[in-house]
Amino acid sequence: MARILITGAAGFIGSHLCDRFIKEGYDVVGMDNLITGDLANIEHLFPHKRFEFYHHDVSKFVHVPGDINYILHFASPASPIDYLKMPIQTLKVGSLGTHNLLGLAKVKNARILVASTSEVYGDPLEHPQNENYWGNVNPIGPRGVYDEAKRFQEAITMAYHNFHGLETRIVRIFNTYGPRMRQEDGRVLPAFFSQAIRGEGLTVFGNGSQTRSFCYVDDLVEGIYRLLLSDYALPVNMGNPSEITILQFADEILKLVNNPKAHIIYNPLPIDDPKQRQPDISLAKSLLDWSPKVDREDGLKETYTYFKKIVAN
Ligand code: UDP
Repeated sequence: MARILITGAAGFIGSHLCDRFIKEGYDVVGMDNLITGDLANIEHLFPHKRFEFYHHDVSKFVHVPGDINYILHFASPASPIDYLKMPIQTLKVGSLGTHNLLGLAKVKNARILVASTSEVYGDPLEHPQNENYWGNVNPIGPRGVYDEAKRFQEAITMAYHNFHGLETRIVRIFNTYGPRMRQEDGRVLPAFFSQAIRGEGLTVFGNGSQTRSFCYVDDLVEGIYRLLLSDYALPVNMGNPSEITILQFADEILKLVNNPKAHIIYNPLPIDDPKQRQPDISLAKSLLDWSPKVDREDGLKETYTYFKKIVAN
């Protein structure tokens, strides 16, 4: 059976990918430096004989003995407050880390899929965003360390593909949610669930009119699985096109949690916060016959079950 290396294995999306590839019968090598990942996300995999784990920072030379057939590069801080706390690590994992993994893919003759992001579109001037849009990114703003690292990641991945003939895949991931998101990662869904469960104010930034489109993690994992096994090397958007304002999102969470003490409060809008974001997924639909299946109501219920367990009231 094939052997796959998954970086960022202890993170939110990485851990779900580990589960999926174990289920599909692969030998899975997880790798994480645990600066934002949490071993609790993959603890259940350690007894599995097809799972092994390396505690390693992929920004440094990566060595894995034995054959590797596939690599999924999902290591990176991934929320705006993480970039502020760890700007250099964020830049390094997207640039040096990607370079190391491309080098590893080359010596192992492996196919590599890298996790890119809707952030490559910045604060978009086109709506919805399709893969041909070049983006509107501030390179020196607070998000620049992530956005530019991911843009560099796409460039070097295409260079290895074109120059070395490496088999590469690029997924541009839009806002994704589900169990195993870090409670304190500052992103909107963990923040709102934690605040609603504790009966606090839900911190809507700005007037809440900015939009996002939220994709349930199982749908994303299915798309990534199909993309990896496809033969398409250019970037592919993945996300759920169902778009809502952040204020509507706060209302949905208030209704679901139904804590009479919870309410909405307004905080200042962070610098360079994109005003709207919605993926155009027609490419993924036609290429991979993929589209999201879980609607927000069901996805939020599943996610609420998880947050109820981890948030101390
Ligand atoms: N946001 C908010 N309150 C919070 C956290 C985030 O209103 O406590 C807003 C944020 O300003 C942004 C949206 O929710 O417009 C999504 O933010 P997140 O950090 O989850 O991810 P982004 O899509 O901005 O990378």
